[in-house]
Parts: sequence; C-alpha cells; structure tokens
Amino acid sequence: MIHLGSGEPACLIPEAAVQAAQEMLAGGQVRYTAASGTPEMKQAVIQYTKEQYGVSPEANQVVISSGAKQALANALYALSLPGEEILFLAPYWVSYPDMVRLAGGIPRVLVPEDNSFTPPARVVVDAIDQRTKAIILNSPNNPSGAVYSREFICEIAQACAERGVWLIMDDIYHRLVFEDNVWTSIYDCLPGGIEESRVVVINGVSKLYGMTGFRIGWAVGPSELIGAMGRMQAQITSCPSALSQTAAVAALQGDQSCIEQLRNDLRSNANILLECLKDLPGVKVQAPRGTFYCFADFRAYCDSSSKLAEMLLNRALVITVPGDAFGMEGHLRLSTCGSAEQIREGVARIRWALDSHAPKTIKIGDQEVTRDW
Ligand code: PLP
Repeated sequence: MIHLGSGEPACLIPEAAVQAAQEMLAGGQVRYTAASGTPEMKQAVIQYTKEQYGVSPEANQVVISSGAKQALANALYALSLPGEEILFLAPYWVSYPDMVRLAGGIPRVLVPEDNSFTPPARVVVDAIDQRTKAIILNSPNNPSGAVYSREFICEIAQACAERGVWLIMDDIYHRLVFEDNVWTSIYDCLPGGIEESRVVVINGVSKLYGMTGFRIGWAVGPSELIGAMGRMQAQITSCPSALSQTAAVAALQGDQSCIEQLRNDLRSNANILLECLKDLPGVKVQAPRGTFYCFADFRAYCDSSSKLAEMLLNRALVITVPGDAFGMEGHLRLSTCGSAEQIREGVARIRWALDSHAPKTIKIGDQEVTRDW
C-alpha cells in the first residue's frame, strides 16, 4: 500500500519534547492544569506570537486546547452561532462544515467560479451579508497548498472590521511555506491591537513538530472571546493534557532546526510530485506553495473523485483523499508527507491504474480525447 493520503509529517518529534515528557512522567505528577492551559504553555505561545506575528498577547488573550481542532471548535461554539452563517472558501479543510453545524451555525461555502485556489478577495467580501457571523481563512490551505496574498487577507480583514464580522485565521501550516516572506500575519492588516480586533488566530504543534498525537493547539484573540472559549473547555475536557503541554513547551522553546528540515523536505517532495504528475496527461496541477498537500484536478478522468480514489485503492493500492470531502469534486489530495520513493511509486501506480482502468476517452479542457497510452 502506498499512502499518499497522510496529513501528518513523518519526522520524529523533537528530542526536547521527549525528554520533558519523560521527566514529567518519571516525577509521577501528571495532574489537571488550569482549564485554559498552564502558565508555562501560555508564556511559550506569547513568545511564539511575538516572534512569528510581531504582536505580544496578554495571558488572558491565549487559550491552550486539545489540538487546533478543539481551539477552532471552541471559537465557533463561543461565538454562539444559531442560525448564523460562517463563510469559507472551497477547497476547505474537511472539518469546517460539520464543526459549524455542530455549533448550530450554517456553513456557507464559496466556490470560486474558475476553481481558482487564490480567487480575488471580492469573492469573499461580496458574500458578506447580515447573516454572516464569521469568515474562516486557512493559509497555507489544506488541501490546495495555496498561500493567500497580503492584499487578499488585508482586504477581507478590512471588510470584516467594517461590517462587525469575526475573522478566524487557521494558521496551522503557516511555518510550512516553501518561500520566505510570502505568508502574511493577520496583525499586519489590522490598525489596532488584538483586544480591539475581532480576529482569532489558531495554531498548534501538530504539523510543525510532527506532534499530532499530543493534541496541543491554541487560540489568540480578544480576551472576552478567549475567556468564553476557556470556560467552555473547562466544562467539556477540564484542560488539555498536562503531559502534552509540558512536551509542547519544550518543543516550542527547544532547537527549531527540525522545522527548517521539514520545510526543506516538503519543498523537495512537492517538486518531485509535480515532476511525476507531468506524466499523467490531462491532470491539471496548481503548484502548492506550502503544506504537505497537492490538490490535483483529475476531472479528465472522473466525475466522482470518491469513485476514482476507490479505484486507485483497489487496483493500485494507492491511498489518496477524494476532493469531494474538501468541497471540490474531480480532484484528489495527494500528500507529500512520505518519502520521495513513495511519491514516485504512488504516481507510477496511479498512471498504471488510469492506463488500465480509466475510460479510453477523456476530457482535456473542452475536448474529448481518445487516449493512446
Ligand atoms: N486546521 C487544518 C487546516 C488542518 O489541516 C488540521 C489538521 O489536519 C487542523 C486544523 C487540526 O490540527 P490539530 O492536529 O492541531 O487539531
């Protein structure tokens, strides 16, 4: 089986995190922490936000959660959505629609006309109306790997500020951008500080340090909303894992060279994947600029991406993730988390499966082409 579906880096977790967790376990004291996170973990997030975003939150503007996922869910619950709409662009991270529904809100998916992964800001701004409670932006994006421009983010931030709409920035991949200086900190777009904003920034250690199983994420935002998120969490999970918070502090404060290593590996794997995909005639690709995904357009070969993914699984033993889960049919999300060999072998098998099992007549643009491969 070749796994091109993975959503977590293959790297080992930082040594500092292992040691800190081992020491805590050896001490035999792993207790409840403050509901919104330990002072040490909040301090580590304050430092992180200062370094990465150029702003310095107060402790009451930070809440630590069981993964970025819980931080996002908490934000949606705390915003109290019943009957209100949350806007986000397709392709989107699979969990957004259900999270919004669970919080009582209505997901409103914005599908750019040309399926562009970087549409103009007006696609989002023009969709804001009196029902809009919040917008979620995810840059770099899962599944497309697209990174939104400063103009795009600032235009949306300005519209949100003017219309009293919340902006949730899901920045979980923000340090996994292949080029320097292309990612924008939302605070560069805001005239005031964190407290005056209606902005919540979500982050975590999962993707950065390969610490997905530790389940530590966080949110930074105005104290009233962050306080509500912490109080809700107090009733739902009591607190994030003490052991995991200790490990996360060590990862955030330890040697950061693993991030550069991961970024280099992902950039190199993305280039290999793009090169291999050139061997699949009719498959269209927009090069990812970050993350560990590439969202390739297989519409020439399928109407249903689920059926195509199933065929690839059964015939070629290759795992991919169908695009319908991300709100964009006809695409497959291919992951670059594995090795270069896995990527090469995976795409070679996809080609073989398409050669043998896909229809002989395929669509390339508006044209019907009979495949001679
Ligand atoms: N946001 C996006 C866009 C993701 O892709 C993921 C994980 O796949 C998360 C949030 C959740 O991350 P965590 O493991 O910190 O809950």
